[in-house]
Formats: sequence, C-alpha cells, structure tokens
Amino acid sequence: MSLTSLVLVINCGSSSLKFSAMPLTEEAPILSGLAERLGLDNATMTFKDRAGNTSTVAIQEANHHSALHVLFEKLSDQQLLKSVCAIGHRVAHGGNEFKHSVLLCADVIEKIKALSTLAPLHNPANIIGIEAAIALLPTLPQVAVFDTAFHQTLPPEAYTYAIPFEYQEQYQVRRYGFHGTSHRYIASEAVCAFNLDPDDHGIVIAHLGNGSSVCAVKNGQSVDTSMGMTPLEGLVMGTRCGDLDVGVLAHIARCSHQSIESLYKIMNNQSGLFGLSGISSDCRTLQEARSKGNPRAMLAIDVMVHRLARHIAAHLASLKRFDALIFTGGIGENSALIRELTVKHLAVLGLRLDRAMNEQISGGRSGIISLPDTPIVAVIPTNEEKMIALDAAVISNVI
Ligand code: ADP
Repeated sequence: MSLTSLVLVINCGSSSLKFSAMPLTEEAPILSGLAERLGLDNATMTFKDRAGNTSTVAIQEANHHSALHVLFEKLSDQQLLKSVCAIGHRVAHGGNEFKHSVLLCADVIEKIKALSTLAPLHNPANIIGIEAAIALLPTLPQVAVFDTAFHQTLPPEAYTYAIPFEYQEQYQVRRYGFHGTSHRYIASEAVCAFNLDPDDHGIVIAHLGNGSSVCAVKNGQSVDTSMGMTPLEGLVMGTRCGDLDVGVLAHIARCSHQSIESLYKIMNNQSGLFGLSGISSDCRTLQEARSKGNPRAMLAIDVMVHRLARHIAAHLASLKRFDALIFTGGIGENSALIRELTVKHLAVLGLRLDRAMNEQISGGRSGIISLPDTPIVAVIPTNEEKMIALDAAVISNVI
C-alpha cells in the first residue's frame, strides 16, 4: 500500500450520488462532491477539494452511470484515479443477511436487490450506483457497507415488535436500526478517547442530523437503538415523526380518508421539526426562530429534546454500566443549545454540563462538555466515510 492509496466512497440516492475520495492515512477526503437531479434535464456534479474550493459541471446524460463517468474523468485529470485501490458503497439495508461489510459479487448484489422490499427507496438506488461502478471499473475491488450491520448484535428482546409472531417470520418484520456505520465509528473513537476498557464499557450515542438515532453500545456492540424496521421510528427528526401510536394513523386515515401509503409519506417527509414548526426541517433555522419567540419553533425544539432525553434515558436500561453520552451528527456536533437542553432534561441521572465548554464546541471539534466528577458527556464528530473506506480497504486486502 502506498501512502497515497485512496478509497472511493460512494453513497447513491435515487436522484443523487455523493462521493468522497478518502486517503487511507487521513481523516478528510482529498476530493468530495455531489451529483444532483439525476434523472432530470439539469443534472450537475459539484466537486469540493481539500482547500474548500468548489466547481460544478453539467452531466450530459443525467443518470448515475454518466455521473460516475464524470467523476472518474475528474479523478483521472487530477492524477488520482490510479491511486484508487477500492470502492466502498454505502448500502441502506442489509436485513438479517449482512452482519458485516462484504466484497461485492453477483450473489451479494442479488441479495441486496432482494432486500429492497425492506428499503424500497434506498436499496434500489444503492444498486444502481454499485452496478454502474462495477461496469466502469470492473477490476477494482468493491465493497458494500451496510447501515444496519452494526445493529445485528441487538438481542431478540430489543429487536422484536410485540405483534403477531407470524408477521416477523413471513415479512421479516423486526427492528433493524440504521446509522450503524456512524455509531460504530463513534463507539471505537470513544474507547480510545476516554481510555475505556474494550471488554467492559457502556456508552450511549446520539447521532443527530436530518435523520437521528440513539444507540446503546455495550463492550463495542450495539445492544439497542431507536430506529426500527425503517428509519421512521424513534426520535423526532427533520421531517420524520419518530415514535407514533399506530392508533393515530388509523384515526387520521379514518377522519381524512387518506391511504396508509399517503400517511406513510406524510410521516416521513412532512412531519418532525418541519411538521411541528411549519417553518423548516433545519435545526439552525428553528433555533433562530425560537430566539425571536416563535411559539411553534419553540414547541418543535421542546418536543425534539423531550423525545431525545427520553430515548437516551431508556437506552441506559440496556447497559450494565454507563461511561459516556456522546453527541454527533450535524446537530449533535454543532448545536450547543440542543445539547444543553437535552442534558438539563437528564439531570436526574446526575449529568451536568460545563456550559462554557459546551458553547465552545462546534465545527468539527471534539471534547468533553460535562463537569468534572459527573458522567462524561462529550462531542465526537462522526466520519462515516472514513469507516467505509477502512472497511473497503481491509476487505479488499489493500491495507
Ligand atoms: P444528514 O442526516 O443529512 O447527514 P447532518 O448530519 O448534516 O444531516 O445534519 C443536518 C442538521 O444539522 C440540520 O438540521 C442543521 O440545521 C443542523 N446543524 C448544522 N449546523 C448547525 C448549527 N451550527 N446549529 C444547529 N444546528 C446545526
């Protein structure tokens, strides 16, 4: 392996493609970017280099294959393509099938396709990216890294829904959890950062972004998490409602004559912070509105924080000991307000914030934000791309 070996990390959505060219020895990408509006007339790809300079190019045939072609040309122009030793693909749902990252081959691709029933929006888009990348660079090892895999260690009592048992067997209904790559990264960083015993520790991670989830990690393994069979369960998110009494859905369906499909979309795309505030799904915008006294922005943030604190406390019940609460994700890393309000809610557990430290931490910094002699509360920036790159390198035997 040369020092400049790169892993290309690819995350394909139905109309977008995100990528990062990750040097194996570093934390940040050498080049990253996003192709948007794939499938429409005006698709573009934006590149961002290390210095933060950006450039945007139009994609002629607006599909994933063309987007990857544009990306590979750019990498080639910059003399980077020859250093790419593997590709790591983020895949949303690995079901019960995938407990770890895996080298892609025809059999694995078929299995990921079959799991599309569990993730109809995400897995088919991931597959498009995988097939396009294999078609363009067939000799390069390519690895699938699943968002669900880290949570495959959940015990049955944590992953089983209390519905008639046959549904679990017939339709693969159970809790799977997501954000696994982020939780796994944070869990391993925390062990080093706080000098925890790898075989005897307990942490709770709050990954708070547009999508959010809490995870309880015991001795390096996920033992509980707030997202379920789909990413809809759990916390109040940007546009997702999180936990909801199924009776609410039945009631609204009866009153408004809407189908379950239509309500499912509303609960995913028009609820959460956006639905509550009527302003935005973006936490920064809501904090601003809250500071000006907007009552719905205040309510949206209060409901989000209440649910978050409730889930953090509940996740402690899956641990034998409690070493640290860690915030990560766009909100967790940057919002001193959400951290402060959440920790205040958890005072009953003995958590106490160092307000000055809390205010100082944002923009990719990590650090402890709790007072001495109280349980550790900390911020650690997540780096899913790094985790995916490492998995791809290890599985491809290039590291
Ligand atoms: P995704 O889940 O799409 O990866 P991110 O992890 O990037 O999302 O998080 C996006 C969220 O982080 C948005 O709600 C955004 O408002 C929030 N955020 C980013 N910076 C700040 C900040 N300084 N203060 C409060 N919220 C922030």
